[in-house]
Amino acid sequence: MTASLAIRYTALAMAVDKELLEILACPICKEPVDLVALSEGRRTEVRDKYREKFRGEEPVVDEGLRCRKCGRIYPVVSDIPVMLVDEAFEEG
Ligand SMILES: [Zn+2]
Repeated sequence: MTASLAIRYTALAMAVDKELLEILACPICKEPVDLVALSEGRRTEVRDKYREKFRGEEPVVDEGLRCRKCGRIYPVVSDIPVMLVDEAFEEG
């Protein structure tokens, strides 16, 4: 529990790069995730949701991380992967 929380917060503080992609995993399935482009509608939705958390700074939302097993997509907001079950969605 404590270890997984530490990993979660480390991931949140790091930008998405290849090395990070290799260690990120779906918190439900513990399976690898792939970087995917989000639809325009989904980008707008995520941007609107995060705007107030960013306190005036416009969140940058272009991509998400899709679980290879369950297909849930975790948004990447201003280069920060949000690997939280409550924030995940299914594209389509
Ligand atoms: Zn999954």
